Amino acid sequence: MSPGGGTRAIGVDVGGTKIAAGVVGPDGLIGELTRVPTPPGPGVDDAIVAVVEPLLATGDVVAVGLSVAGFVRADRRSLVFSPNIDGWLPGDLAGAVESRLDRPVVVENDANCAAWGEAVHGVGQGATTTVCLTVGTGLGGGLVIDGRLHRGFGGFAAEYGHMALVPDGLPCGCGGVGCWEQYVSGAALVRAYLAHQGAGPDAAVSGRAVTEAAENGDQSARAAFGTVGTALGRGMAVLGAALDPELYVIGGGVADAGALLLDPVREAYEAALTPRQLHRTPARVELAALGSAAGVIGAGDLARRHAEEGPARGR
Ligand SMILES: [Zn+2]
Repeated sequence: MSPGGGTRAIGVDVGGTKIAAGVVGPDGLIGELTRVPTPPGPGVDDAIVAVVEPLLATGDVVAVGLSVAGFVRADRRSLVFSPNIDGWLPGDLAGAVESRLDRPVVVENDANCAAWGEAVHGVGQGATTTVCLTVGTGLGGGLVIDGRLHRGFGGFAAEYGHMALVPDGLPCGCGGVGCWEQYVSGAALVRAYLAHQGAGPDAAVSGRAVTEAAENGDQSARAAFGTVGTALGRGMAVLGAALDPELYVIGGGVADAGALLLDPVREAYEAALTPRQLHRTPARVELAALGSAAGVIGAGDLARRHAEEGPARGR
């Protein structure tokens, strides 16, 4: 069978509040997504099995891919560490569900899944080098070069959110200081909004509420998008110096604001891109096309390729 041929796999996006799953074939998502709430504490493996089992009946399912936030081991079976989740995943995540589903299970970093989904079935189709940035709870990253997901030596490539871009900056859940995601995330958006308002840092506001306020013309909310967008664009110029990508894909909940985020991103990116003195064509900066389905589609497609090509050639 040709690489990535006619088989299907199930992609599962294991999030902090909900678990979404769907069947993925060569042409992308087949049918609708199924969603269940993520149980608090133990029981996540039971919830994954419960959401996947009915989908197995669609037939020809060769593997299951799990998209999970955190640093995934190179063997793609479990997590080393998750800065934004409180230890509710089993140590051997793949093993915990594999025997019960009777299919090989592959664990992938959530931002890698989103990047791969956009590369094969979304806005990244045809691009040579794509940097994907997911702005949500944290700042996730993915890198696709010449049709392959770049994982790095230990499996931890493209963790751009933990590049220390601000000396002596804010502490991060990873143990570092001044990490990029402390300035580009839903929490950073709220913090910027409260600062522009002159409110205390303890005021209860959600990122979604800041987006709605900005869409309704609230000046503090619009300024907050300017602050976060500028931080995002400047960091993208740092990545540009290293990678010279053709395309940046911006996704995640904060990107639902569209031009409110992208306008300051493009402005800061082009102003900071090196070398400024040369006539250089800036990379395209586009919003993600697949929305919340990107993780499911990417996890499913990576799992079915893994099953067909084997781990040695798996993307
Ligand atoms: Zn960090």
